[in-house]
Amino acid sequence: MPARMKVTHQFVEFVPEQLQDGVLYVSVVYATVAHKCCCGCGYEVVTPLTPTDWKLLFDGETVSLEPSIGNWSFPCESHYWIRRNKVQWAGKWTRQQIQVGRERDAVQKRRYLQAAEQPGTAAKVAAPPKPSVPPSSFWRTLARRFRGR
Ligand SMILES: [Zn+2]
Repeated sequence: MPARMKVTHQFVEFVPEQLQDGVLYVSVVYATVAHKCCCGCGYEVVTPLTPTDWKLLFDGETVSLEPSIGNWSFPCESHYWIRRNKVQWAGKWTRQQIQVGRERDAVQKRRYLQAAEQPGTAAKVAAPPKPSVPPSSFWRTLARRFRGR
């Protein structure tokens, strides 16, 4: 099977059981992207979207995934980027590179979790902004009701 150079994307709630070749299924609700390996081997690649796994970039027309996808656990061991719906093939990694990459990933995850546990760092940044002013009509209604008594 020839290696794929392009993909299309589909925003879905649930990733379907049968994936089509060359389609990137993006579930924002479940923060997951799934597709069939671009080498054509038929293996399903699931890339979770988390601060320490993959990030999805959607520019309104195309999607990109960062970082690259290394299918070391498949027989094909293919390695590629998906950028703007294009597949950019990367060289195969040696065993040593794979090992180094895995260790780096583990260190990053540990750092992230440590930062998240400490108050005032990641947790503070992640807090959603609060609305500063309540809807004025609500307060006017309330004030009128109080004055009436
Ligand atoms: Zn493959």
